[in-house]
Amino acid sequence: MLNKKRLTLMRSGIAALISITVISLSACCFFGGQSSSLSSAPSSVPSSAGSLLEVHIIDVGNADAILVYNRDDSLLIDAGENDDGDDVVNFLRSHGVKSLDYAIATHPDADHIGGMDTVIEEIPIETFIMSDLPENIIPKTKTYRDLMAALDSKDLNITPARAGDSHPLGDAVLNILGPTGVFNSTNSMSVVCRIDHGIRRFLFMGDAEKDAEDVLMASKADLKADFIKIGHHGSRSSSQEKFIKAVDPQYAAISCGGKNRYKHPHAQTLELLSFLEIVYYRTDIFGTIALVSDGSYIKFNTEKNQPPSTYTNLNYKSR
Ligand SMILES: [Zn+2]
Repeated sequence: MLNKKRLTLMRSGIAALISITVISLSACCFFGGQSSSLSSAPSSVPSSAGSLLEVHIIDVGNADAILVYNRDDSLLIDAGENDDGDDVVNFLRSHGVKSLDYAIATHPDADHIGGMDTVIEEIPIETFIMSDLPENIIPKTKTYRDLMAALDSKDLNITPARAGDSHPLGDAVLNILGPTGVFNSTNSMSVVCRIDHGIRRFLFMGDAEKDAEDVLMASKADLKADFIKIGHHGSRSSSQEKFIKAVDPQYAAISCGGKNRYKHPHAQTLELLSFLEIVYYRTDIFGTIALVSDGSYIKFNTEKNQPPSTYTNLNYKSR
């Protein structure tokens, strides 16, 4: 089983390596001549061991589901809405992932844990990570009960997310940064994690809001990252300017559904990203967003071949 998994992932890695070469050759054409889609390492800095880290921001509408893998280790962060479970399972299988080393349910809202019960039933999981929620915000929803029942049925224990913990992910490292406090909203109790690979860092915010960002900054957590999965689908309740400046990313991705009822992402968030000249990708425009890095270079590929969002709105006023 493990050998099979490793072989499949190696094949996927080789395919990605070929595609990374092709993308690097054709990047100027593919991205409409915007070299911002390429990230060059300083020549004096060695890259990682040469293994490829892949991050797939799966298009599940106004919800989150993110697959990360390196060598034969894999991680799923969230699993979309209730009716996304089968699609997420199929996505994992189509990428050769037959079992997961880690699954993180960032927080127990339906757009993050909805499909997780299906994933748990279909895909063996080694370590399942969730925040330790205060009693008063534990949901009473069927979605939450379904998740707990699925964990029970597989005798899968919850590993509490503890800031400061780190876990190996192939050549990369999964670092748990948050939650760093106790909040009265499920969003701000989101697991926040940073994956380090070579000289590159990738930050995943769940739906953490400004109060969680404030405590993260006060905690002196090392927030610097080359890429950020923007918090809470681009809502203005997250991504305050001082926080994004502390992360100082070159790239961002927003998981959001077209014409969603929450009007995510908020114009203020997009204006901030533009103002800070951060290249951002949105799942409602680009579909599933794939990021591949060898620990030095970072390449993006998108399901829908359109150039990255351009800086059309520069009305942002620094706050
Ligand atoms: Zn959400």
